Amino acid sequence: MPLHDPPVHFARVRQILQGEASEPRPSAKITFVLRALFTGETDTEISPRGFVVRFAGGGAIPYVSEAAPAMLLALLARAQICPQGQALAFRLEDEDGYALTGIPDAARWVWLVPGEDVVLVSLRRPTSAGPPPAEPSPLPLPSKLKKLYAHLAQPLACPHCARTSSVYRATQDAWVCGGPRCGQSFSPPHRVRALAELRDDAGETVRETTARPKIYR
Ligand SMILES: [Zn+2]
Repeated sequence: MPLHDPPVHFARVRQILQGEASEPRPSAKITFVLRALFTGETDTEISPRGFVVRFAGGGAIPYVSEAAPAMLLALLARAQICPQGQALAFRLEDEDGYALTGIPDAARWVWLVPGEDVVLVSLRRPTSAGPPPAEPSPLPLPSKLKKLYAHLAQPLACPHCARTSSVYRATQDAWVCGGPRCGQSFSPPHRVRALAELRDDAGETVRETTARPKIYR
């Protein structure tokens, strides 16, 4: 078994989001992965390091990247979208979600955010008629008991005081600036929030920052 997923699968994911797609090959494995994505509300990260689906409340399941291209093709085909490399947001109705997964109550707003090193896929239950808003609402945080901190690979400037930091306290709706004269909260961009590593106040990792290669199970 490979220690790392072949990077070819991530290259294929990028090609698909550029519109260089072929027919999806339906398989039981893809349905299995789609069912994970449609389990309530999820954030999915696909990168050369792997493919991981995160659930509301903090659970996460890694998959082999081999499943990612066909999973994306199935979503795009169902939405009848031919992508051209841009970020996408669209709505799938109950019957679309059911056709993909066999799960009832599967209407979802879907966001696909392509990037050179990571592709984000977010699914949320629609809270109104029509297309999704520009960004998905944040997934519920893993723990209500502990103070959580978002650790960033790239430092981010507080929009209030411009102090740059790679650590912010994370609440459900916002991040809080640790600047001594600031302490104000703000809502970080979806991509920044999705790629942050969450640690509790003891430094224990609650949610890892990037997908790691794992074997399909
Ligand atoms: Zn600040």
